[in-house]
Order: sequence, then C-alpha cells, then structure tokens
Amino acid sequence: MPAKKTTNKTTDAKLDASLPRGINLLQNPAYNKGTAFTEEERNQLGLRGLLPPRVHTQAEQVIRVMENFRKKPTDLERYIYMIALQDRNETLFYRVVMDNLESMMPIIYTPTVGQACQLYGHIFRRPRGLYISLKDKGNILKVLENWPYRDVRVIVVTDGERILGLGDLGAFGMGIPVGKLSLYTACAGIHPAYCLPITIDVGTDNESLLKDPLYTGLVQKRIRGAAYDEFVDEFVEATQKLFPKAIVQLEDFANTNAFRLLKNLRDRVCSFDDDIQGTAGVALAGVMTALRVTGGQLKNQKLLFLGAGEAGIGIGDLTAFAMMKEGLSEAEARNRCWFVDSKGLVVKSRTDLSDHKLHYAHDHAQITDFQQAIEALKPTAIIGVSGRPRMFSQPIVEAMARINERPIIFALSNPTSKAECTAEEAYRWTKGRAIFASGSPFDPVNYEGKTFVPGQGNNAYIFPGVGLGAIACDAKLIVDEMFYAAAKSLADQVTDYDLSLGRIYPALTRMREVSAQIAVAVAEVGYKDKLARCKRPADLLAHVESLMYDPTYQSYI
Ligand code: NAD
Repeated sequence: MPAKKTTNKTTDAKLDASLPRGINLLQNPAYNKGTAFTEEERNQLGLRGLLPPRVHTQAEQVIRVMENFRKKPTDLERYIYMIALQDRNETLFYRVVMDNLESMMPIIYTPTVGQACQLYGHIFRRPRGLYISLKDKGNILKVLENWPYRDVRVIVVTDGERILGLGDLGAFGMGIPVGKLSLYTACAGIHPAYCLPITIDVGTDNESLLKDPLYTGLVQKRIRGAAYDEFVDEFVEATQKLFPKAIVQLEDFANTNAFRLLKNLRDRVCSFDDDIQGTAGVALAGVMTALRVTGGQLKNQKLLFLGAGEAGIGIGDLTAFAMMKEGLSEAEARNRCWFVDSKGLVVKSRTDLSDHKLHYAHDHAQITDFQQAIEALKPTAIIGVSGRPRMFSQPIVEAMARINERPIIFALSNPTSKAECTAEEAYRWTKGRAIFASGSPFDPVNYEGKTFVPGQGNNAYIFPGVGLGAIACDAKLIVDEMFYAAAKSLADQVTDYDLSLGRIYPALTRMREVSAQIAVAVAEVGYKDKLARCKRPADLLAHVESLMYDPTYQSYI
C-alpha cells in the first residue's frame, strides 16, 4: 500500500521515512519510476540489480508507452494497457495521459470505458478504489478506514445502475468512478492521492450479470426504498466523518434515486451530481458559445429536449437559471425549455409525470412525435439526452434547418453507439449549417470541401475545474451558481479559431488552463456567497495553479 500522503506534492516522498525501498518501491505505483530511477536513487534506495542497468528519462519512457499503446489491436486492449500502467507507475500514466489527452480520453473515458465496464469482471486484473457492499452495512466507516490515504478531497461514487447510456452494470460500474477521477487529475491536476473511487454495491437487476460466473458484485437483486436510503445515508455519514474535506460526486445513479439523493445532500454535504449538474454546465456552455455564431440572446432561445431524465432536466434547470440572470422570471425561463420523453411531449394534462418533470409540464396539447413537436414549437435548439440512438432522423434534422438559419443540434447520448445522430449526418442534412455537439467524440467531417470539427460536450470540461475550484476555496457546498460560473468561463475560453472550425468547446490540449480558469470562477462564487472555508488569496489563479499536480518525476534523495 502506498505510504500515507497528506499534501499534494510529488516531492512528498523526498527524505520521507515512509518511502518504500527496494522491490516494495518498484511495486508501489504512487512512487515507482521504473527504469527512470537515477544511479544515486538505485544505490540509496536498494534498487541496484532490480532494474536493467540503463537509466531512461521520463520522455523515453513515454515513447515506449506510446509505441505499445499504438500497437494494441483494439481500444479495449488500449484501455487494459493504460490501466495496467496506472497500476504500475502512476506518474508516468498521468504524464502520458496529460500530454496526449486527445487520444487518451476516448480510451480511459467514454466511449471505451463503457465497453470496459460491460466486461469489467472479465478484464479484471487488480482492484482499484473501494467497494462498499450490503455485507458492510453497519460497518461502512471501518471499510472506509481501509483506504490508505486520509486527506481525500474528491470521492466519485456510483451504485452502477445507469452506467453511461448502458443501463444497470452493478459492480462492473466501477470503471466510471475510476475513469472520472483519472480525468480530475489529468484535466485539473488534482493529485491522485486526493481521489477516491467508490462503488456501493446494492445488487443488480441485470439478469445476464447475475448469471455471469465472472460477475464481481453481489449476486442479488437491488435493494430499494427505505433500505436503500438507509444504506446510502450510512455511507454519506461515514464519508463526512472520515473525509470531512471531500467533495462527494454522485455518478451514474438511475434517475429514480439520483434526483432524491441530490436533493437530500446538496444543502448539507459538499456534493453534486455530475449527470445532472456537470452535464448542465457543459451543455449550457455549448449553447452560450453557439449564440456567438447565431447572434441570439439566451433568453430568446427555445430548447426542445429529447429525454427528460437527469441530463435533460439538469440542463433545463441550469439554462433557466441562466435565463433568469438575463431578466426572465422563473416561469418565463422554464417556459423556454420543452421536453419530450418516452411518452411524448411533457405537458400539463399528463398524469404520469415524475416530480422532476413537473416544472416543465407546460400548457399545450399532447404530442407524441418528436418531429411534430419541432413543427409546433419551432425550437432554436434540440438536445438529445434520451440514451436512444438515431432518434434525430433526417426529417427531424431537416426540419430544424428549415426553421433556423443556424440550428443548434446536440446529440449528447453516450457512448457513441447511442448518439441521436452522427456529426456527419448533422452537417450533411443541414447543408453545413448545424452547430453540432455530441457526448462522445466524432472525427472531423468534410462537407463540400469544408472541414468541420465537432465539439464534444464532455463533462470533463466542467467537473474537474469545479472540483479544483471547490478545493481551492475549501467550499462547504457546491451550488448552481458555481455551475453557471463554470459554464460561462468555459464558453468565454472558446476562441474565434475554435469557432472557425465549427468547434464550440476549446481544444482538449488546453484542458489544464481551461480547468484552472473554471476553478477560479467557481472559487470566486465560493468567496462571494460565503461558502469558502479559507481566506481568499490575493492571487487566486496563482493559488489554483499551485495546487495542480505535475506528473514529472522528482528526485527522492
Ligand atoms: P435518464 O435515464 O435519467 O433519462 C433518459 C430520458 O430519456 C428519460 O426521460 C426517458 O423517458 C427518455 N427516453 C427514453 N426513450 C425515449 C424515447 N424513445 N424518446 C424520447 N425520450 C426517451 O438518463 P440521463 O442520465 O438523462 O442520460 C441520458 C443520456 O444522456 C445517456 O445516454 C447519457 O450517456 C447521456 N449523457 C451525456 C452527457 C454528456 O455527453 N455530457 C452527460 C450525461 C448524460
């Protein structure tokens, strides 16, 4: 187990009596440098003979990793290779990921992570993170105490019930907290020792997993109702006791639980739900940026969502919040967001609506067909968050192009196989006029001689910066105003060059500077709203940057 770290510097190990030695040092991913240990380190740390004689630089090691990475025949094999590197040498893993974010994100996160989760028990090598199962009821604090680090600042927790758009994957969902936390480090420089991935295993209703001999979770149906809430309560209380500075990020819970959990936690625990609020931040930023192209004002937009779940309602709520900043009343703002769910348009006359949809149940005749809803409402933007592939058909996209000079079309469902339409379809069916974003990455599209680079509305643009900002001001709570500030900051960082390519988010290569700016915006809200638990430094950006982990090897002697 790694020695306990309490600060965020890679140099912690320097002269640290707890620094492991010899073979234990090579087998400790937090400290291992592999062939890059220097001659002096090899002499003093008991490594002589345990490594081949030639000392390599970190840059040379990166070449080796990338050579092997490229040779792998499939993305899943690339995922397995990268996780194995993370298990061996964390610093090198982050060096590679940070320096090659564009090729690494689709592997360590969506879409490949979805495939990895579906097969998690089949590709299992070493455990990562904490599993808290129903067997631990009454003892969750003790289980948390087994985690080797005490100064945890971010917990990403799932119960595996709605993994991406793939449904209930039970304990196989662990790939998501692991991947998200890798992005916290890669995108915002939050030290890996601050990060704790957790899966709470309350069973699964996925019949094929229950029959799978290699399934790694509890072989039982999910518990629900009061028993579920009691278990989650015990978990949350235990995290607050042991890790009082940690943000608790709810991840990939099904919407039957997600809205309730968020409502119960948001005013008393430093927490947020990324599927609801992080998605909202990235989508709102996309709409704000799109308006730079269309020339409109947010308060005059009409958004029509396909899907009224966590992502859709989250985006609706934050968009309404932003419209109210432009002077609309709450009722006026909500009236600009319309939803179609699996039963049709969300309208007042419906009696089957769950609580989270009620704010958006407007006075209108019932319409069951999405295209008819477009014709009736004439939205300026359609946002796909249904988890159902190919729902933005050619007639739908063409209708948007008929109604709008520059239609805003976001096909956000993940992974790629679930997207409501492809980038190529959006550009072709609108004759290159669509302002398009997707949840999973699409390659650039050439349409009639012009190359369009589709924007990826990935939450990774938002949550790492929000987390870093919350850490920087030691926030008590995470509030909507912070997601609004994050969205605005993200939109402000899109350059005219990005826009000229059709890209409505900054290049991934700028992710660290983007996250630092978002963190400043978020921390400013913390100070303004008296949610910060530490004094504001004179230079907030410098403070934020000083917190950011740099995966460059440090000398241990
Ligand atoms: P959810 O289960 O909470 O909601 C899905 C919604 O889609 C429900 O309202 C359901 O009624 C509706 N729906 C299902 N079938 C439909 C149909 N045929 N027609 C119309 N509506 C239909 O799920 P969620 O958390 O909101 O996620 C939805 C999708 O969005 C997933 O694929 C997820 O991966 C994706 N997502 C993307 C991002 C991102 O790219 N940034 C972030 C979060 C979620």
